Amino acid sequence: MSAPDVAEKLTSLAKRRGFVFPSSEIYGGAGATWDFGPLGVELKNNVKRAWWRDMVQLREDIVGLDGAILMHPKVWEASGHVENFTDPLVECGNCRKRYRLDELPDGERLTEAWRAKTLDLASTACPNCGQKKLSEPRRFNLMFKTFVGPVEDTASVAWLRPETAQSIFVDFENVQQSSRKRIPFGIAQIGKAFRNEITPGNFIFRSREFEQMEMQYFTRPEDAPRVFEEWKARRREWHASLGIPAERLRFRDHAADERAHYAAAATDIQFEFPFGWQEMEGIHNRTDYDLRRHSEFSGKDLSYRDDVTNEKFIPYVVETSVGADRATYAFLCAAYDEEPDKEGVRVVLRLHRALAPYKVAVLPLSKNERLTPLAREVWAAVRPHAMSTYDETQAIGRRYRRQDEIGTPLCVTVDFDSLEDRAVTIRDRDSMAQVRVPIAELVPALQERLGA
Ligand code: ATP
Repeated sequence: MSAPDVAEKLTSLAKRRGFVFPSSEIYGGAGATWDFGPLGVELKNNVKRAWWRDMVQLREDIVGLDGAILMHPKVWEASGHVENFTDPLVECGNCRKRYRLDELPDGERLTEAWRAKTLDLASTACPNCGQKKLSEPRRFNLMFKTFVGPVEDTASVAWLRPETAQSIFVDFENVQQSSRKRIPFGIAQIGKAFRNEITPGNFIFRSREFEQMEMQYFTRPEDAPRVFEEWKARRREWHASLGIPAERLRFRDHAADERAHYAAAATDIQFEFPFGWQEMEGIHNRTDYDLRRHSEFSGKDLSYRDDVTNEKFIPYVVETSVGADRATYAFLCAAYDEEPDKEGVRVVLRLHRALAPYKVAVLPLSKNERLTPLAREVWAAVRPHAMSTYDETQAIGRRYRRQDEIGTPLCVTVDFDSLEDRAVTIRDRDSMAQVRVPIAELVPALQERLGA
């Protein structure tokens, strides 16, 4: 099974089974925005829950925040986004197709040359039409602009946030004082972000509306390099702990001239997607850039006073930033598996139990009026304890396959013996082993297998 095949199969599985649909599909789509269907919303919620658990619940030193998407326009001037959040856009003078400079063949070298102000595109052919008529790059701002209030004048400009981090900086003092945290500590947030990407694509990998899971860790300046290394290791471990094979994860450190305008050090955690190694998460040492700039622009001093040593300083920030949609896609890619079986091919999503949309499927052996009441009674007993589903149509083998294909770790089968012995069979997705347990002990037996 080749890698591009997996991407294609996943896109079609996602649509067919209700994970992800193109947004506004009946109108022909809305340009790189996606809707998460009944299974997709469960999966993505589980990804977000797993992140929140690791980053907030299990930590003594991190608290959460849910900031507004619309913020004061000065926020984006202070953060540098109005000036710097741009991509170099190149347009073909012949076919009018647009590219991000770094996405052209040999794009890395071209981008380096552009940064060094030595770029010459005269001998570069347009990948679409082959003509050598590419324009000089133009800096294209990726932020969506909108207006607050009834009058479209510049006084009421607002930007849809391109990252969630800024409300963490702007609320730094509110959070620090209300939660009485002392440095070092972190603030975590999950929320929507918007970028008017020049070339979105690869399914939900790059879209114009997406969710980020970001954490800003505030430290003493001298500790930032060590904290940066610690977060690199910890975040890579998180992806691996949820089922991404270690050999499909790697770090890519950014060279000094390619870092974002605020970063002193930056690393991507890359995942081997079906279309190649790509960034899944960014770890940045943002220095005191953001708090310093917001202090300057707002006039409010955001420095921190250590109440033991009485020192006053602007904290440094180490950021971890991962896309919820991009991570969800990576988990799907890593989980996708096929194996031959007597009916042809068995497709299995080997999702980690914590991520699987349904943990349990309750299946009567056949659609039969004697079995249905007991099967529904079993489902009702399971529902409060685990996200679960029920399926009684078609042969039992087909129904197992349907659950395998969406990653359900456990199936519970109610058969005619169940009517006599009040016991049911639990079937495991990965080993396909089956065990019989009394209905009275079913919930703890499921919980034990689910690690719940
Ligand atoms: P890229 O180089 O892929 O455009 P970036 O370096 O601009 O990403 P960051 O600004 O570091 O990305 O954003 C942090 C994370 O947010 C990324 O690692 C990714 O998981 C996610 N992300 C960024 N842009 C998008 C997008 N357009 N669609 C989905 N997820 C995104």
